[in-house]
Amino acid sequence: MTELVLPDVLRERAVRPGDRRYPLLRSTYTRVAAPALILLPENAAEVAAALEVAHDSGLPLSVRSGGHGLSGRSSNDGGIVLDVSAIDGVEVIDDGARVIRVGAGARWANVAAALAPHGWAISSGDHGNVGVGGLATAGGIGWLARSYGLTIDHIRAVDVVLPDGRLVHADATHDPDLFWAMRGAGDGVGVALAFEIEATPLRAVGFGQVMVEADRDGKTLRRWSEYLAAAPRELTGNAMVFPDGTGFAAQFIAVVAGDDQDRVRDLIAPLAELGVRPLDVAAQLVPYPALVSTGHLHPNTGQQPATTTNALLPTLTDDSARALMDVAAAPGRTLLQLRALGGAINDVAPDATAYTHRHQQVLAVLTQFPPGGGAELDAAAALLTPYADGAYRNFESRPDGVSFEGAFPGATGERVRDLHRRYDPDGLLRRVAATGSAVEPAP
Ligand SMILES: Cc1cc2nc3c(=O)[nH]c(=O)nc-3n(C[C@H](O)[C@H](O)[C@H](O)COP(=O)(O)OP(=O)(O)OC[C@H]3O[C@@H](n4cnc5c(N)ncnc54)[C@H](O)[C@@H]3O)c2cc1C
Repeated sequence: MTELVLPDVLRERAVRPGDRRYPLLRSTYTRVAAPALILLPENAAEVAAALEVAHDSGLPLSVRSGGHGLSGRSSNDGGIVLDVSAIDGVEVIDDGARVIRVGAGARWANVAAALAPHGWAISSGDHGNVGVGGLATAGGIGWLARSYGLTIDHIRAVDVVLPDGRLVHADATHDPDLFWAMRGAGDGVGVALAFEIEATPLRAVGFGQVMVEADRDGKTLRRWSEYLAAAPRELTGNAMVFPDGTGFAAQFIAVVAGDDQDRVRDLIAPLAELGVRPLDVAAQLVPYPALVSTGHLHPNTGQQPATTTNALLPTLTDDSARALMDVAAAPGRTLLQLRALGGAINDVAPDATAYTHRHQQVLAVLTQFPPGGGAELDAAAALLTPYADGAYRNFESRPDGVSFEGAFPGATGERVRDLHRRYDPDGLLRRVAATGSAVEPAP
């Protein structure tokens, strides 16, 4: 391939194969990739220039913030990676309203560490190495999900460079369509540079790990779901269930937003009674940043080539809970993780953001590790199909037309498609998925 000619502003920002930095920049968390060019812009003008280079080259374009995307499409083979990791500032812009401005290239561990001295937190996810840009353009189901809601629910404004190079500061009154799309379907409309997000006052949390023996019929899981759905919203939790000898064990992780020890104990202790019998209970108070720790930070080198999908469930019934146990028992050894939703997530109107799923109580995340792959994962996921009611875009390795319909059903999908076409008429951001095929149905 002839080498691309770069404008002056990007000459110092380019990394190509052979550059000593290339090995640690080429890949994502889930995929070893071989892009022809990685661009590391440091401001809006440089992002616009990078988009123009990508547009004119006709090459595949990947946009990357933290590189933790499960699809691996934040890098590619033979194309261009627009990596905003240098745009990673975290700055308080309104002390009274606790609004901070966060660069899209920051990692959530660094955000949590920067907010801790203020006694504030933003619920993001469960891993400190995840980037701000990929998570805050799609949802953000974090450790405080039931008390705080999704990360996108607290975005007050976002700076976006559109595919035509224009920089837009979008909020509820300035370009509200763009603002709507950026909160749930942002990857298809532009490159996010920075988000203004309202934090919540929080210093410490109660963190509990409870292990119980689980029954094969799913009663343990159903009781867990009922307990979480009825619990005060300061309790957020997830559950993992796996074969244990001849039976099953469930691990419940619980986070209580706040540092009242009695309250933490009162909310976590009942979890031990939800299974066939308790196996272990541990709880402690920890600073919030311990949950999305700077200890998580690492380069992404394709170290986790897992395949992931998910299903949102309105609630757990006897039948759907049994189906979840079928997943856990399936021969393909699919890892099953459940997250409790509801609470503040469901306070938001379904049409307020491009993330429309505001009545479901449970998210089931299914992960297949090598040597298993898509076939084993599909077989396990099919067990949940009768009960699934939507999907979360960010726990999906294969962003195809089917998963698009799950994430953006009905009228939401129509609006997302319209806005993707309006802001990106040439389909620059949809040009290529990790596999080299179109990410979403063509406009
Ligand atoms: C170990 C692990 C734990 C996770 N835990 C959680 C969790 O608890 N809760 C949760 O909600 N999610 C979680 N996720 C999923 C996570 O939200 C997504 O993987 C997210 O896309 C990662 O963000 P990133 O910036 O690191 O991604 P990247 O790989 O950099 O990007 C992923 C995609 O997002 C888009 N994108 C990235 N940056 C921008 C930008 N600046 N502007 C526009 N589009 C952009 C692009 O389409 C890109 O392909 C987890 C993922 C992993 C691997």
